Amino acid sequence: MTEYQSHWDKVRDKAPWLPVTAPLLFAGYSLQQIDRLVGGTPFYAYDRQLLQQRLQQLHSQLDDTVHVHYAVKANPMPALVDWMAQRVQGLDVASQQELIVALNSGMAAQHISLAGPGKHDNELAAAIAAGCVIQLESRQQLQQALRLGAALQQRPQLALRINPDFQLKNAGMKMTGQASPFGLDYDDAQQLLQQWPEQADFVGLHFFAGSQNLSSDAINACHQQSLQCALTLLQGTSLVPQWINIGGGLGIPYFNHEQPLPLSEVTQHLNQLAQQLRQQYAKAHLVLELGRYLVGEAGIYVCQIVDKKVSKGETFLICDGGLHHHLAASGNFGQVIRKNYPVLIGNRLQGDTVETVNIVGPLCTPLDKIADKVTLPQAHIGDYVMVLQSGAYGLSASPSGFLSQPPAKEILLG
Ligand SMILES: *Cc1c(COP(=O)(O)O)cnc(C)c1O
Repeated sequence: MTEYQSHWDKVRDKAPWLPVTAPLLFAGYSLQQIDRLVGGTPFYAYDRQLLQQRLQQLHSQLDDTVHVHYAVKANPMPALVDWMAQRVQGLDVASQQELIVALNSGMAAQHISLAGPGKHDNELAAAIAAGCVIQLESRQQLQQALRLGAALQQRPQLALRINPDFQLKNAGMKMTGQASPFGLDYDDAQQLLQQWPEQADFVGLHFFAGSQNLSSDAINACHQQSLQCALTLLQGTSLVPQWINIGGGLGIPYFNHEQPLPLSEVTQHLNQLAQQLRQQYAKAHLVLELGRYLVGEAGIYVCQIVDKKVSKGETFLICDGGLHHHLAASGNFGQVIRKNYPVLIGNRLQGDTVETVNIVGPLCTPLDKIADKVTLPQAHIGDYVMVLQSGAYGLSASPSGFLSQPPAKEILLG
């Protein structure tokens, strides 16, 4: 097997929609067609069919006691949020602008929740005025919400985010079980729940232990502990939750050694947990809050090769896009040791001649890498470099203003 064949096989494992033989179509279009359609590279393209498949998988496995919410920060493109809003039971947002995108999507306000540490009055007032849920991150935020609710003569709809004492094992990013700006520590939360203020409605508890996990055992253990923690916290109070948001953290495979998450093991366990919740609270449901898992595999980032050079024996493909549009693929968004995202020459899936290349962007910094020493069909100026698994934490998670390069385009197709 050639080195390229082995690279191709690994990439294809992660993106089963890739063709067995060339040419490549994404959402029914060639990359050249999408290039013309959006008015030039670099661009992100997202495929509704791929999004749909992922949602169908989830919905077919989950009982209706488990609701799926979309975490808008994973990909806040308005057209995508609009599309998603028709197919999930709630939207979770983290800023006023995301709140507006969520409201514009037509999602009912009571199914939109605003979270995040550090909220200006304006932001909380917007959520209260709209009738959205606020996921409280601190005691001070509660006072803020009560004051703003009184001024608006509206009862704030409040949930409480918990910083429990356990951690999500193997998570790409750990969010709990340590000193944290997110949520209330257990004891603090317990106190607050026991003296819940009369002027606000209690709607639920919220957990988010971490992101990008590919181990169903670790995820299940964390979901189990979260529900247990929620039930213990509510014991001895007269509060009745509408829901317990158990977080998510479901990961997708990016790198060579990674295998897809066995979804059914997670969904079966969630169905059981929801039953357990119903024994205490007959109308409550579990919420699974997902970003990356819903959108990550449904997007590609495409840039064009504008230069090719050899330096000290290594070949460089230099593109018109890079870190400023796709920080995660450059390895600078939470990776400890840089690894290549799955990458292909989109218009040369096959080629008799292969070469090992470094793919970089146009920025004047050595951080601007797309792929390090990857073996691909021999590529030329004008060819398309395509980065897969780019639907989540792509454009909006990148420093677009850095070096004042032109912005990337985005399109939702299919
Ligand atoms: C970012 C975030 C999510 C989504 O995380 P993914 O790993 O993308 O699924 C869910 N909940 C909260 C509170 C978040 O901040």
